[in-house]
Amino acid sequence: MSDERDDTAIVWFRRDLRVRDQPIFDAAAARARRSLAVFVLDPRLLEPAGKARRTFLYRSLPDLDAALGGRLLVVKGDPAEAIPKLAGAVGARSVHVAADVGPYGRQRDEAVEKALGDRDVELVRTGSPYAVAPGRITKSDGEPYKVYTPFSRAWAQHGWREPADTDAATVDWMDPGEKDGGPRAVKIPDDDAPDAELPTAGEQAALDQWAAFVDEHLTDYDDLRNRPDRPATSRMSVYLKYGVVHPRTLLADLGGSGKGPTSYRNEICFRDFYASVLWFFPRSARENFDPKFDRITLDSGKSADEKFRAWADGRTGFPAIDAAMRQLRGEAWMHNRMRMAVASFLVKDLHLPWWRGARHFMELLVDGDLPSNQHGWQWAAGTGTDAAPYFRVFNPVTQGERFDPQGDYVRRWVPELAGIEGKKVHQPWKLAEPPADYPAPIVDHKAERQEALNRFKAL
Ligand code: FAD
Repeated sequence: MSDERDDTAIVWFRRDLRVRDQPIFDAAAARARRSLAVFVLDPRLLEPAGKARRTFLYRSLPDLDAALGGRLLVVKGDPAEAIPKLAGAVGARSVHVAADVGPYGRQRDEAVEKALGDRDVELVRTGSPYAVAPGRITKSDGEPYKVYTPFSRAWAQHGWREPADTDAATVDWMDPGEKDGGPRAVKIPDDDAPDAELPTAGEQAALDQWAAFVDEHLTDYDDLRNRPDRPATSRMSVYLKYGVVHPRTLLADLGGSGKGPTSYRNEICFRDFYASVLWFFPRSARENFDPKFDRITLDSGKSADEKFRAWADGRTGFPAIDAAMRQLRGEAWMHNRMRMAVASFLVKDLHLPWWRGARHFMELLVDGDLPSNQHGWQWAAGTGTDAAPYFRVFNPVTQGERFDPQGDYVRRWVPELAGIEGKKVHQPWKLAEPPADYPAPIVDHKAERQEALNRFKAL
């Protein structure tokens, strides 16, 4: 039987740093006898990524390279120049990617597609980093969903494909040394001196972490997912961010309809929902989803900057808030319940713009991801889709008492309070002798809550 495939294709890795469950491998192998595996270090993405995400990426690439038998070519530059040049250098007729659906990724891919088209090379998009590709799920009249619950029903009904049965051997990888010209290979950069302790990079680490979660925590996930003092969530966000695992792989493992699996499926759906919102409303990454809130009064100036600093440094005097902000610095990750609490505090107790906090998160989070982060912030600020109603203002003390009932989370992250037993740790100002090295609350929550409500009502 004659093999009518092209001689060479390119597999361009971006947010899919894995070899298992890789439909682009099947697509490339169907199209060409062998493929060149490429990663492009793109300064436009790396510069704003922050040390934690850059380092996590630099630690993930050697793992992918090893999985591909040392055949990953890493180059640096603008992909719209580098990828077409590489296609020319290896005589590729097609370049295979998973669709990028963020605002920058879409623009970049259109530019790459155009430059490849000029050379008669096709950009082939297969799948996306989501269970259901953003843009697919709309209401029956074609309008996008703006509310999670009806979206989640349509999402479950739409369904997703089974994991692709691939590994590194699905594709015959070309030795990068064989390429004739084009951009030169660069060394994968060293760690970028992150201040935080990062999760272990690599596909096997992700799969091990997932297997341990399924074994030990999935059944109780629904009951315990709000507890920052317990290791009850999956910590898959960073691996999903970089496509070290695909959400499809996780969904396939969830199995049944128990409370734990159902709740976990809902969270994966939230991730898809926010990506869908960003797909249809790209401006929501930077602007209030609901423009009515453009007129709300926000604080600025020296005193606002000082409050922002206290928040970012974990020195607000509210133990649960401070523990969370220090967890962010310590692990480049924060528990979801605490992300909601600290976001509410910044916006509703300190009256600062959500995007200031969102930018700080994006700088520090190892799982920092535009759709989930910006929309998580807009949800907490009350300016987004499905937003928490404006009158919902998290109480920073009761959030701590409810979700960290023994105070273990606070004691772990705020050493100044480590000697205070039990839930008393959430209100150190009530002690006969409050710790001298821990600040008093920087605001009166009750008064600031009222102030936030007044500002909303004035709209
Ligand atoms: P698990 O509880 O194990 O959840 C499983 C997966 O479901 C997560 O890995 C994540 O992919 C998804 N998920 C869970 N909760 C949400 C949610 N509320 N929205 C969207 N997806 C969700 N998530 C990010 O991945 N990157 C971010 O930059 C980010 N910023 C956020 C900012 C704010 C203000 C808020 C309120 C939430 C943010 N989230 C973000 C969502 C959520 O906090 C994290 O996904 C979660 O804490 C990651 O931990 P985990 O993997 O252990 O979660």
